[in-house]
Amino acid sequence: MRITALAGGVGGARFLRGLLRHLSRTTSPEHLEHEPVELTVIGNTGDDITLFGLRVCPDIDTLLYTLGGGIHEGQGWGRADETHHLAEELAALGATPQWFTLGDKDFATHVFRSQLLGQGMPLSAVVERLSARWGLGEQGVTLLPMTDTPVETHVVVADGDGSRAIHFQEWWVRHRAELPAERFVVAGLDRAAPAPGVLEAIRGADVVLLPPSNPVVSIGIILGVPGIRDALRGTRAPVVGVSPLVGGRPVRGHADVCLRTIGVAETSEAVAGLYADFLDGWLVDEDDPMRPRSGLEVVHRPLLMSSGEAAADLAGAALDTALRLRAGRTIA
Ligand code: GDP
Ligand code: CA
Repeated sequence: MRITALAGGVGGARFLRGLLRHLSRTTSPEHLEHEPVELTVIGNTGDDITLFGLRVCPDIDTLLYTLGGGIHEGQGWGRADETHHLAEELAALGATPQWFTLGDKDFATHVFRSQLLGQGMPLSAVVERLSARWGLGEQGVTLLPMTDTPVETHVVVADGDGSRAIHFQEWWVRHRAELPAERFVVAGLDRAAPAPGVLEAIRGADVVLLPPSNPVVSIGIILGVPGIRDALRGTRAPVVGVSPLVGGRPVRGHADVCLRTIGVAETSEAVAGLYADFLDGWLVDEDDPMRPRSGLEVVHRPLLMSSGEAAADLAGAALDTALRLRAGRTIA
């Protein structure tokens, strides 16, 4: 069975780790038992940034570290058991910026990636090398960046009488999304091509899953890569997503601010509307007021991934919904 998922960082990674856990504990439905699962993850690269001359891919690295067992659980990003000697020395030198935390082990990833990119290797090939380090292949996982083209999300913020654009990470990490944003501008997105294998993974999937990643700056950016949205509209696979909102608020981060910035209400219903042209199933919280509608199966479930087991239950519910929709299509 081929499962394809789009993912940002922490929300996407935790959900996908839950999916792997669900699959490993699953003895039914029967057809899963003998059929190996191939999971292809299409990661957001809009968060990517160059710091100290190094290319940093926060969402891709969060996926690698989480699925590979090296993540700092408390933070949700970065490496477990980190030290910060390099950052301290850079600060002593007066190097900037100092608002983005990079640990020593994490730095090694960025040095290696930048070395390979500097030798002309495309990002997708670099991600393949990093995936080998983290044992993703042994778990049946292929991680693909959404594109090999450098893409960067910027945020246009008010500045005196005018406005200026700052990198998404500066807005998100340094200013905690508190600087009033006018809009998002994604440099390079219009001329970005999907990375090798991305469209094939969507078109050839049996099931497509959207984890509860940020609908604006994670999933929304991936959908902006020319060709990806069309592939989702055209795929025969059911597309099932999970709302990132519980009680009208994101579980973590500032997705509510992002939604307001693009003029979309902070409700699961409005988020589903962003995916309306290809979404078949939508998981919302138990108390969510959203009701089923024609063409969209709405499933109420506990949405909090408060433990590995809870994440596995949530991912299992999303997969079961997709398999049910798929079975219905085969019969129809
Ligand atoms: P980021 O790139 O690290 O910000 O991570 P993602 O874009 O993949 O995911 C961020 C989104 O995940 C946020 O909007 C959160 O509301 C959502 N999220 C985080 N934890 C949970 C959870 O336990 N349940 C649900 N439903 N959403 C979550
Ligand atoms: Ca992100």
